[in-house]
Formats: sequence, C-alpha cells, structure tokens
Amino acid sequence: MTFPPLREELRGVEPYGAPQLDVPVCLNTNENPYGPSAACADDIAASVRAAATGLNRYPDREHVALREALAAYLAADTPHGVDPAQVWAANGSNEVMLQLLQAFGGPGRTAVSFAPTYSMYPEYARDTHTRWVAGRRADDFGLDLDVARALVEAERPHVVLLPSPNNPTGTALEPAAVADLCRIVGEQGLVVVDEAYGEFRRAGVPSALELLPEHRNLVVTRTMSKAFAAAGLRLGYLAADPAIVDAVRVVRLPYHLSAVTQAVALAALRHAPELLGNVAALRRERDDLVTWLREQGFEVADSDANFVLFGRFADRHAVWEALLARGVLVRETGPDGWLRVSVGTPEEMTAFRDALTVATKEA
Ligand SMILES: *Cc1c(COP(=O)(O)O)cnc(C)c1O
Repeated sequence: MTFPPLREELRGVEPYGAPQLDVPVCLNTNENPYGPSAACADDIAASVRAAATGLNRYPDREHVALREALAAYLAADTPHGVDPAQVWAANGSNEVMLQLLQAFGGPGRTAVSFAPTYSMYPEYARDTHTRWVAGRRADDFGLDLDVARALVEAERPHVVLLPSPNNPTGTALEPAAVADLCRIVGEQGLVVVDEAYGEFRRAGVPSALELLPEHRNLVVTRTMSKAFAAAGLRLGYLAADPAIVDAVRVVRLPYHLSAVTQAVALAALRHAPELLGNVAALRRERDDLVTWLREQGFEVADSDANFVLFGRFADRHAVWEALLARGVLVRETGPDGWLRVSVGTPEEMTAFRDALTVATKEA
C-alpha cells in the first residue's frame, strides 16, 4: 500500500494547469490584458469594506442581488430577456460545470464532448464518476452534426459539454447546430454550451442564450474570467430553466459563494461598460493576428475568441521553447503540431510577432 491512500484512478495524475511562469509576455491562459481602472478598484475596495462588517454572518445563500445583476447583464444578448430565477453563480464557471455534473452525471451516467476541446471536461467526469466519451470535431474544428447525432444515439448521454467559442480552437457554433443537438439529445440529457469566450464572438454570431425559451434541456454558462477582466475574482454563472437551477441547489456546498465574492462581483458588474470596453479592441487585435499569421504561411483556425490556434509545426515544443527564451509564453495545447496564443495588448502582440519570426527560423 502506497501513501497517501489515494483513489486508484487518481494515482500519478498531474493537477490541471498551465505553467505559471514569471515571463514578460504571458499569452498562455486567455486572460484579459487590461485590468480594472483605479475607479473600479476603489469601488471594489469600498464594497469589500462594506461586506467586511457583516462577515460574522453567512452570506446570502441564494446570492439574489448578484443573480439579478447577472440576469440584467445577459439580457443584452437575447431578445427574450433572462429572469434571475434562470441564473445561478459559483466560484468560476468550472465550479458551475462541476455542479452540473454532480447533479446530472454520476455513476451509470455518461457525459460527452467533441475533441479537440477544453481539457477540464474529462476531469469533471472523473471527479463525479461519470462515464466520459469524446467524439471528434470536423477537420475545420466545427461540429459535424451527423457525427454528433450518431454518437448521441449510440451513447444516450446525460450531459453534453460544448464550448462555443471552443477552447483551444476558437470555433463558434451556429445556433441552428445547438438547437439540433438539443433535439437530438432530448430531455433525458442536458446540452451545456460553455460561452466562456462568448463576448469575443464576431459580429453576427448569436449567443445560445437566444435558444433558451425553446429548449428546456439547454444550459448556457458564462464567466467573468475572460472578457470581464476578472479572472482573479472566480465568478462563473449559468442561465437555464429554473428547474435546472433547483437541481444544482441540491449539490452546491452550503454558502458556496462568499459575501466578499458576491460584493466584488456586484461592484465589477456596475463597471461592466468599462471592463468590457476593451473587448472590441481585443477582437480587432485578434482579427489582425489571424491575418498576419496567415500571411506568414501558418495554418490558422478561425477564431471567435480572444486566442488563436496556429500551426503546424513538426516540433511544436521546440517553437514553444524558442518563444519562451524570448520572454513570450504561449500554450502548448490542442492537436499535435499546433500552438495557442492569447490576444494581448498591441505591445505584447508586437513582441509575439517578433519572437515568432525568429523562433520559427531557429526551430
Ligand atoms: C477559461 C475557460 C473557462 C472559465 O473558467 P472559470 O472557472 O470561469 O475561470 C470555462 N470554459 C472554458 C472552455 C475556458 O477556456
């Protein structure tokens, strides 16, 4: 018997996470390069100060004020509006999705996604003893509905996890494809559309929020970690049928969302126009980056997110290392031969372009 007496299937498993290296140009975790302004930071500090005097009490378990503010924020992305009863928040959308797997996955149940995709999904399945099945995306990283239909019919999944835009490829899904999938999965399963990068989608690409009134088995998750420039806050949320919110309440830990988190998230939402103000600039920078990479002869996946997947490299690790040697950290992820770079400030993108030009000559 080896110590500690860990579950068999967890032995030797490395914890998830990109390397957190102290490097001048960090383009590896899709963070927003623009932090909150001094005015926003002051409002956050004042909100924490006010919350501090009440810390002897447990927080609002139902985080009602926050759910109202999130519902109002989401309403901009759907003509049908969003009711606070449809909204639920937790410590990052990773926790939201884990709660969904806790409630709707489990022993004897199956979760499905389509690779290449977010590498945390199989971990939620593992941690909730849910059977995990990964289908394949098409060559352009879109979803082939015939492949999806065949997989769903064969596996009868209880949860389908589908990021749009997808990480690490940047691919957004057509709402018609999401609607088809909701019908194919049927009411024995949930279709979870992870819109962590939703605010970065290109003009004319709608949010899956629009489909909520028509599909009771649809869940849309969002986060304040990316477009909202608040990765350090740890606040994610979902919009879905209130019956799904009721189910998540059963598995959440008591008072899972601290009074400080709720106060900071509310303050950040009051500054939404400012925090989201740089999204348009980042989208333009993203489109310029795609164009530039293609001009250099790279293969580049279309991107609706704040990152770009590009390749192909015979030895991507050598390129990753050569970039790092020049102070630029990107992510070695996705299909072999590809690298993912997050969109940073214009200065950071110049540093990336310069480093890549030299690095590909060397590697
Ligand atoms: C970054 C990311 C998230 C957000 O995670 P948080 O826990 O909200 O920080 C969710 N899904 C995908 C695919 C992501 O890349």
